[in-house]
Amino acid sequence: MQSSRSHPLMKSGNCARTIGQRAARKPAAERQTVKAADAASQGLPCAAAGRPVKWNREADVVVIGAGGAGLPAAIVAREAGAEVVVVEAAFDIGGHAITSGGHIPLGGGTSAQKKAGIQDSPDLLFQDLTDWSVVQPNGFPDYRYNDRQIIRAFADNSASVFEWLVAHGVVFIDKGPDRFGGMSVGNSCVREMHAAAMDWPWVQTGRPVDPAIRAITPTGNGLMRPLEAAARKAGVRILLEHRMESIYRESTEGGRVLGIAADHKGAKLNIMARKAVIIATGGSTGNVNFRRMFDPRLTEEYCGLAGMPWSDQDASGEIAAMAIGASLWGLYNQTGEFGSNVTKPGTVGCQYNYRNLRWFPGSPVFHLARATGLFVADWQDLILVNMIGKRFYDECADQYSANNAGEIDPYAPCSYLNARNVTYDPPNFINAALAGIGDGENGGGPIWAIFDADAVAREEWNPAPPEVDMERGFFFSAPTLRDLAAGIVMKYQRVPMPPENLEGTVARYNSFVDQGKDTDFGKPAPRHRIARPPFYAAWATPVVHDTRAGLRINAKCQVQDVSGVVIPGLYCGGESSGGFGQHGLARAICQGYIAGKHAAVETWSS
Ligand SMILES: Cc1cc2nc3c(=O)[nH]c(=O)nc-3n(C[C@H](O)[C@H](O)[C@H](O)COP(=O)(O)OP(=O)(O)OC[C@H]3O[C@@H](n4cnc5c(N)ncnc54)[C@H](O)[C@@H]3O)c2cc1C
Repeated sequence: MQSSRSHPLMKSGNCARTIGQRAARKPAAERQTVKAADAASQGLPCAAAGRPVKWNREADVVVIGAGGAGLPAAIVAREAGAEVVVVEAAFDIGGHAITSGGHIPLGGGTSAQKKAGIQDSPDLLFQDLTDWSVVQPNGFPDYRYNDRQIIRAFADNSASVFEWLVAHGVVFIDKGPDRFGGMSVGNSCVREMHAAAMDWPWVQTGRPVDPAIRAITPTGNGLMRPLEAAARKAGVRILLEHRMESIYRESTEGGRVLGIAADHKGAKLNIMARKAVIIATGGSTGNVNFRRMFDPRLTEEYCGLAGMPWSDQDASGEIAAMAIGASLWGLYNQTGEFGSNVTKPGTVGCQYNYRNLRWFPGSPVFHLARATGLFVADWQDLILVNMIGKRFYDECADQYSANNAGEIDPYAPCSYLNARNVTYDPPNFINAALAGIGDGENGGGPIWAIFDADAVAREEWNPAPPEVDMERGFFFSAPTLRDLAAGIVMKYQRVPMPPENLEGTVARYNSFVDQGKDTDFGKPAPRHRIARPPFYAAWATPVVHDTRAGLRINAKCQVQDVSGVVIPGLYCGGESSGGFGQHGLARAICQGYIAGKHAAVETWSS
C-alpha cells in the first residue's frame, strides 16, 4: 500500500433436494458428477467428487486466477515444461495486483539491495517475519502468528523471485529499496522495490502515464502487464471470463484433485488437470458471510472493497477447496489490528473509496465504479457521523499501523525490550466506525461525511457526477441540515437519520470550533464551522481490503486438510492462503512462484 498523499492518482446444499432427485435416476458413479455439475450451475459451493461425464479441456496445470499469485504460478509451471491453462473470472487479467501501487517487498539479499549496500539475507528476513517481540502501539503483533514453514519458504525464495521478475520484463524504478508502501515487511532493513508504470495503460484511467514520469511512477500495471506478456509468450493459455465454480477430487475423503468446473458466460465446462490445480483467487473479503466468520461486524454495508470493481475476492477458491476437505489457517492474521485489513477511506461520496485507488471516467470499469470520489486533503474540512447522525471519533485520526523497516529504533531482534519500549497509543478510528448504533444489530452502518459549501471551496471539490455517485445514494445535498438528514435514503441506511440529531451534532461541533477544543473526541483544534448551505452528506464508510487468512498450505504451497494431510494435486498462494500476515504482492508472487514450480513436477500413476 502506498501513502495516500503521494500517489499521482490521488490528485487528479441445497444441492440437496432437486439435484438429489434428478441424480437418483442415474448410476452411482455418475450421480456424484451430476450433483457437482448442478451445484456448479447454481453457483453453489458444493463438493465435486469424482470425474465429470466429460472433460472439455485439459492441461497439466490449471491455475485459477490471473492475478498476483496466478500469473507467476502459470509462467513458472509452463517454463518447467507443463502445459498450463489459467481461468480468470474477470474480463481482463490482473486481479487486485494490477490495481495496486506496485510496491513489492522482496528481500533476503536481492541484487537491488546489494547494489544499494543493504545487508539482508534469507535468515534475517525469516527472523524479521517471525519476530514475536514486534508490537504496534495498540499492542497487536504483526509477526507472532506467522507459520514458520511458510515464512521460511518465502525467505528462501524471496531474492530469487525478485531476479525472476526482472528477467520476465518487470522494470523497477531505478533506485535502491526503501520503505515506501511497506506493511509488515520486517524491521531490520529496507526491502520495498517499485514496479515502474512504463507504457502500459493504467486500469484506473485507461491511459498510460505521462512519458516523462513513466519510469519513476509505481503501479501494479507495471507488474502485471509484463507478466501477462511473459505468460502469453511462454504459451500459457489464459481463458478470460471463465469462473471456477468447483474443484474435482477423486473423492471428498481422499484421492487427488482432477480438475475444475468453470462457467463461461453461462456455459459450463470441465477442465482436467493432469498434474495439479493451483488456487490463486485472491481471498475472501468480498464475500460477506465468509468474512464475517473472522469478524462478525463486517456486514453488507462494507461494500467498497479495495480493488473492486476490477476484480472480486469472493472466497470461491476457499469454498471450493473446503468442499473437498481443505482447512483454513492462521486466522489471527485476519483479525489482528495491524495493517490494512479494514481501512479508513481516502475519498468520500462514492462506493469504492479506498485511500489508494480512484477510478476515472477513462477506466474500462468506470461504468461499474460510477464515480471518482472527492479526495479528502484535510479531515478538518468535515465531520463524520454514523447512521443516526452522531459523531464517533476524531475525524483527523488514522487507523492501525503495521511494522516496517526501521520503525522500531533501537531494534533488538526477538527481545523483550521491543514490546517494553512501545508507548501504548491505540488508533481506534476503525473500531469506533464499526461500533454501530447500539440497537443490537451487527455492523456499524454507513458513515457519512458532513460538510458545507465553505468546505467544498476550501477543498476545491466539484460535488457533482462523475465525482460523486448521487444516483445510487452515495452522495446527498440539501439546503438545510434537517432536509439533508431526511433525504439520506439508500440501500444500507437501515434506519432513518433523525434530523434533530444531525442538527444537534453540527451545533455542538460548531461550538467546539468556537472554543478551539473538541471535548467529545479530542479532534485537535477543530477549525471550520459547518454553516454555509448547501450542506452535503458523502459516503465515508470504512473499506475492507486485505485477506490475510485462508487455506492451510505447507512450504510447497500444497493445500492441506484439517488433519494436516496434503490434498494431492492442490496448491494455493496469495491472499487465498493462510499463515502469512503480510500485506500484498511479495507473498502472492513468491507463493505463486513456489506453487508453479512444485505443481509442474507432480506425477501420478494413473
Ligand atoms: C488498490 C490496491 C493497492 C494495493 N497496493 C499494493 C502495493 O503497492 N503493494 C503490495 O504489496 N500490495 C498491494 N496491494 C495488495 C495486492 O494487490 C494483493 O495482495 C495481491 O494482488 C494478491 O494477489 P492474489 O493473486 O492473491 O489476488 P489477486 O491479485 O486479486 O488475483 C486474484 C484473481 O483471481 C480471480 N478470481 C477470483 N475468483 C475466481 C474464480 N472463481 N475463477 C476464476 N478466477 C477467479 C480474480 O478475478 C483475480 O483476477 C494492493 C491492493 C489493492 C486493492
